[in-house]
Amino acid sequence: MSLISIVVPCYNEEESLPLFYQAILEMKSSLPEVDFEFIFVNDGSKDNTLKIMRSLAQQDANVHYVSFSRNFGKEAALLAGLAHAQGDYVAVMDADLQDPPALLPEMYETLQTKMYDCVATRRVTREGEPPIRSFFARMFYKLINKISKTEIVDGARDFRLMTRQMVNAILSVQEYNRFSKGIFGWVGFRTKWLEYKNIERAAGQTKWSFWKLFVYSLDGITAFSTVPLSVAAVMGLLFCFLAFAMLIFVFVRALIWGDPVGGWPSLVCIILFVGGIQLFCTGILGQYLAKTYLEVKRRPQYIIQETEKDYLDKPE
Ligand code: UDP
Ligand code: MG
Repeated sequence: MSLISIVVPCYNEEESLPLFYQAILEMKSSLPEVDFEFIFVNDGSKDNTLKIMRSLAQQDANVHYVSFSRNFGKEAALLAGLAHAQGDYVAVMDADLQDPPALLPEMYETLQTKMYDCVATRRVTREGEPPIRSFFARMFYKLINKISKTEIVDGARDFRLMTRQMVNAILSVQEYNRFSKGIFGWVGFRTKWLEYKNIERAAGQTKWSFWKLFVYSLDGITAFSTVPLSVAAVMGLLFCFLAFAMLIFVFVRALIWGDPVGGWPSLVCIILFVGGIQLFCTGILGQYLAKTYLEVKRRPQYIIQETEKDYLDKPE
């Protein structure tokens, strides 16, 4: 019998988690030939998420959990979940039921045909999302796919079912600055995409503010493209040509009409403009340097404070 591990990163999901667990139990009956295990990752929740995990682990031997010492972010939670999963197949799902469990049987059947190593999902609509956010999301995917060799699919969710082989490949990617949507694509393998309409959260609040998403998108770009670094070189070259052309123009004009001091306001504008571009390019360099700095420190991605083994061995 094969085993499917369900990896669920959870941050303040006390309302959704019981609903999620129930939904998976209901789905299980349509896949009687498969065993399931849950790997819940408590990403430093401030509510009762950990308590709910403890009680689920007490009732159900297939429930495992990993609890972090603080909030390390969804990427770290995902990594911890994958590292603890034992299954022949691993599913990654959000706790808020935005990823319909009803798709799992279909995903599993698809992998059984051996024609694919992974079944992933993407939403075709962004209903229920603020229009400005959808707009920037689309722009981000257009940009990153232009400047990165790794394909990053627009609207791709993290909800996917993967074979053990692919999970091991993902775990072998040891970088600190993790951008899963990119890593999933980078490791390769044959992926089938299922499409569905956006579903709103079952309960609770989204943890992603516009600003958080913006910073995350910059992380994605620096992790999967070095094109911004060449921006400085290209602009520098362009400005050299421009300056040279202007020099000749000014020289010839002074020779013919003799106008030595006119035009200082335009000069000020040019100095400011070029100064701005220089700072912008230094900023880009700084971004990559900062990422390199974090990378060379080799800090662990997360710190585990408790797992279900600690709890079940000696409950408080
Ligand atoms: N999440 C997490 N750590 C965080 C933020 C979110 O583990 O710092 C989890 C969250 O509990 C949920 C999933 O990541 O299971 C997706 O988060 P959310 O639903 O807020 O994002 P959205 O679906 O709105 O993109
Ligand atoms: Mg969600």
